[in-house]
Amino acid sequence: PGWNEVESLTSAAHERYLTLDDGEIADYIPVLAAVDPSLFGLSVIEVNGAAHDAGDSGHPFSIQSISKAFVYALVCEEYGHAGVKERVGVNNTGLPFNSVMALELNDGHPMNPMVNAGAIATTALIPGTSSAEQWEVIRTGLSAFAGRQLVMDGEVYASEMATNFRNKAIARLLESYGRIDADPLETVDIYTRQCALLVNAHDLAIMGATLADGGINPMTGQRVVSPEVCGDTLAMLAASGMYERSGEWLFEIGIPAKSGVAGGIVAIAPGKGAIGAFSPRLNSAGNSVRGQRAIAYLSRGLGLNLFASK
Ligand code: GLU
Repeated sequence: PGWNEVESLTSAAHERYLTLDDGEIADYIPVLAAVDPSLFGLSVIEVNGAAHDAGDSGHPFSIQSISKAFVYALVCEEYGHAGVKERVGVNNTGLPFNSVMALELNDGHPMNPMVNAGAIATTALIPGTSSAEQWEVIRTGLSAFAGRQLVMDGEVYASEMATNFRNKAIARLLESYGRIDADPLETVDIYTRQCALLVNAHDLAIMGATLADGGINPMTGQRVVSPEVCGDTLAMLAASGMYERSGEWLFEIGIPAKSGVAGGIVAIAPGKGAIGAFSPRLNSAGNSVRGQRAIAYLSRGLGLNLFASK
């Protein structure tokens, strides 16, 4: 579709779901519960750099689990396909994102980089001689995906650090199975920081479009990761980017995506572009209700389903 068509579909998607108020705001991270539930932003970025925005697409929120996708890409760039597959795994656990049982059932193998155990194990693999250095690699790397300097929300970080006993337990469990070399609690600290990075729907669309564009940021022209790493990352998102509803998502929508508990979703159409969405009300799996609906509408309208054969 041409520029005008994408532009009008983006506005139409926003208008269509603006009044939908199903779902609940995440409140297990206390500060997230204070967010205005009516916020709703959409952004579509094409690999040629064309941008289409609607609603609150510039409103900042914490990236949360969506960071897992981009930190994974940075680690793949460093360790390569086979190394990360062996160390972190690639299979869906079929269990909630913060499951401890998934680890226990698999000899402490994290299984998958998109659930907390695998994401913590992935963050531990980020290069650096100290946790401060590792954090800087992540902040700089995710900023390169977004094409601007991302900053952390100190309040979200503090709120989660005061309540993330479960993530600390998961990291200790990984340690007990010998699945993490770095200091487990320092790794949780970096992981919590990466989740507290502030983005908006427009940033998410640019970050996704970089993966759609073989690793080149379509806005800055900078190569962030290799085309092989984009393929590996998108395969992981297709398999498990939407928590335990990933199969359903792929079946209905047909494009890789990653969501986060603050209400963000990024959905990627390889070779074409990406959609960023933000709306804080979530379904029971933790996926933004309006974000999912709007992306489904756009994917249909723009013909993005990877499995469509005609
Ligand atoms: N920081 C959150 C956690 O580790 C991210 C969860 C999410 O977005 O799914 O619990």
